[in-house]
Amino acid sequence: MVQDALDDTVRLKAALRQLRWLLTSFQGSGIEQFHRQEGAPAPKQEALEEPVDRVVEGDRASDLAQVRQELGDCRRCRLHATRTNLVFGEGSAEAGLLFVGEGPGFDEDRLGRPFVGRAGKLLDKMIQAIGLRREDVYICNVVKCRPPENRTPEADEVAQCSPFLFRQIEAIRPKAICALGLSAAQALLGRTTSMGGLRGKRFQWRGTPMVCTYHPAYLLRNPAQKAAAWQDLRLLSRLLNEPRTKAEL
Ligand code: SF4
Repeated sequence: MVQDALDDTVRLKAALRQLRWLLTSFQGSGIEQFHRQEGAPAPKQEALEEPVDRVVEGDRASDLAQVRQELGDCRRCRLHATRTNLVFGEGSAEAGLLFVGEGPGFDEDRLGRPFVGRAGKLLDKMIQAIGLRREDVYICNVVKCRPPENRTPEADEVAQCSPFLFRQIEAIRPKAICALGLSAAQALLGRTTSMGGLRGKRFQWRGTPMVCTYHPAYLLRNPAQKAAAWQDLRLLSRLLNEPRTKAEL
């Protein structure tokens, strides 16, 4: 019985967080007001006094664990057939900053962890450059299984996997998102612009500030672009230091 009550509480909190997230998303889209339909009953005052802004410690971690559980031994797209390990993501569930890459590479597939090869080492340096440690942030990818020969994920693979990415972001509710590379930027923004047209600007993903920059693997091949990536990291750092609104807590 106690367990049932706890389960109900967890479900209620999850519903409230989703509602708050939705409202924040509407705000991010420029929608500031809602109008009650004529004749509809007025909400009771006591219902509005629910302390929806209080974040209970551990909620993010349990929400994230639930997403992982639902993903399970996923076979929703063809990429499952060639993977060694599904790479869900890693880092702090309380992270203020969330990085999204394209998909696992050779080393990631082998170890089941995101960004662990040469590109991962460069990402670690990028994180340190803005005064953070890898364990302070959360790192994941658009697709959780390695595309053969590291090819770009197909649109249907992204369509199958990205809902789990979105739910990871919603579970963590970071203060800012950094899309690493064009695939991640396009999956989050739904645009087909070039990275040159996306980087250096502030975007929003469902109300959360977002910056796009070059993928570390691209930077290893094109070190001349590191200066531009550094500018993007400085923008990201500014977003992280902006005061957080009540709705974003
Ligand atoms: S890439 Fe995503 S959708 Fe496809 S099998 Fe892996 S986890 Fe499932």
